[in-house]
Amino acid sequence: MSTTHDVINPATEETVRTIELVGVEETDEAVARAVEVGPSWRGLAPADRGRLLRRFSEVVDDHLEELAQLEVTNAGHTVGNARWEAGNVRDVLAYYSAAPERLFGRQIPVAGGLDITIKEPLGVVSVIVPWNFPMPIAGWGFAPALAAGNTVVLKPAELTPLTAMRLGELALEAGIPEGVFTVLPGKGSVVGERFVTHPDVRKVCFTGSTAVGQGIMRKAADQLKRVTLELGGKSANIVFDDSDLDVAAAAAPMSFLDNAGQDCCARTRILVQRSVFDAFMERFEAAMGDVRVGDPGDESTQMGPLVSAGQRETVRGFVEESGGAVDVAFRGSAPEGAGYWYPPTVVLPRATTDRVWQDEIFGPVVGVMPFDDEADAIRLANDTAYGLSGSIWTRDVGRAIRVSRAVEAGNLSVNSHSSVRYSTPFGGYKASGIGRELGPDALDAFTEVKNVFISTES
Ligand code: NAD
Repeated sequence: MSTTHDVINPATEETVRTIELVGVEETDEAVARAVEVGPSWRGLAPADRGRLLRRFSEVVDDHLEELAQLEVTNAGHTVGNARWEAGNVRDVLAYYSAAPERLFGRQIPVAGGLDITIKEPLGVVSVIVPWNFPMPIAGWGFAPALAAGNTVVLKPAELTPLTAMRLGELALEAGIPEGVFTVLPGKGSVVGERFVTHPDVRKVCFTGSTAVGQGIMRKAADQLKRVTLELGGKSANIVFDDSDLDVAAAAAPMSFLDNAGQDCCARTRILVQRSVFDAFMERFEAAMGDVRVGDPGDESTQMGPLVSAGQRETVRGFVEESGGAVDVAFRGSAPEGAGYWYPPTVVLPRATTDRVWQDEIFGPVVGVMPFDDEADAIRLANDTAYGLSGSIWTRDVGRAIRVSRAVEAGNLSVNSHSSVRYSTPFGGYKASGIGRELGPDALDAFTEVKNVFISTES
């Protein structure tokens, strides 16, 4: 079995770097080291742990452009997006650098004594990262985990390991002690599986596909290991007839084309009230025509290539081998030649049961369907196994609140398609996952609550 892996630039199909893959033995060594250094890391004065995380944030900022350029070749991300992603790691670290001094417990009134709760770290935490957002998703795991006093082993995705590996080096440069945060590039079936079965790993923080997440949860049950699962999505973009149609249509393309559609939050089911369907489609088609697809290193590019030839085949299969179940309404353009390109594509599914309407495609493909009224919109929005995000476009405040309450998803935006802010919780309902990342909630996911009762009677 080969122990090396070629990292391919998705825009050129050239090898960026050949890396050594880590096996079970190295994984066990890293976990043993994480166990060993655990007491000194959790035992640091909270302000000192915070200072080290703040320093890590500053070092990431010093290397922001380098990290962004590396992500362009590692994952094919547009340079603008990649800068945002490196900046997000910086910001997440800065946000959680304040946490060690704010891990507040409670004092609960009881008879006969004093009752307090203490938030304690879990121990060694593992983070498993997918290929679509290699930097932010790594940071959403390691930053709160470290802040809460855990030590961390992290596995990047096979296809896109380079930026996470660099973050591991920058952590050392920032003064995070060796063994506290270790990046282990390797296969899911080797390193990832070992995280799940290793008795000293107390938690698996996994982001990836629903099928792999389900398998991890089953295996983790053997040791009652804690899991956070951030999984797939098929989010609705609901456009009511009282919305500002120009704004809703202008926002629709990048709400599913960001990262070439390889985004768990992509709004890939557009629901448009029947009375404004044609007016919306006219504006949407014009907006799609303006999307710039091409060289991800070019400052003006909005959409780059897919991550791999395999991913492009998967996407193509949904649109072109669907047995006539979808009509293509219109398409954008994509470069010819080397690179894993696929044009932005808008389809009109025939039925809500169509694969293209129900399954996560993870590419630049969106379906559009009309609805009649508010109840119909809610029914269609919830007619999916997933529940990660979504948008609601309306100028009626009451409707915005009613529909936000009724849609079963963890992250909703009204008159916006943004989903992620480092200070607010992120996660899914139903098959989109279990638990929350980011914001104050993530700290709960990386701590145990201990209750201590101190008698005053003796
Ligand atoms: P994937 O499930 O194939 O792999 C994710 C990670 O798990 C990779 O690092 C992989 O090596 C590892 N892995 C694979 N098999 C494993 C196993 N048996 N045990 C342990 N680890 C294993 O997903 P992907 O194709 O890399 O990423 C795309 C998926 O991620 C999409 O479904 C997308 O929706 C999802 N995603 C979800 C979120 C979210 O926050 N909800 C964010 C980004 C991506």
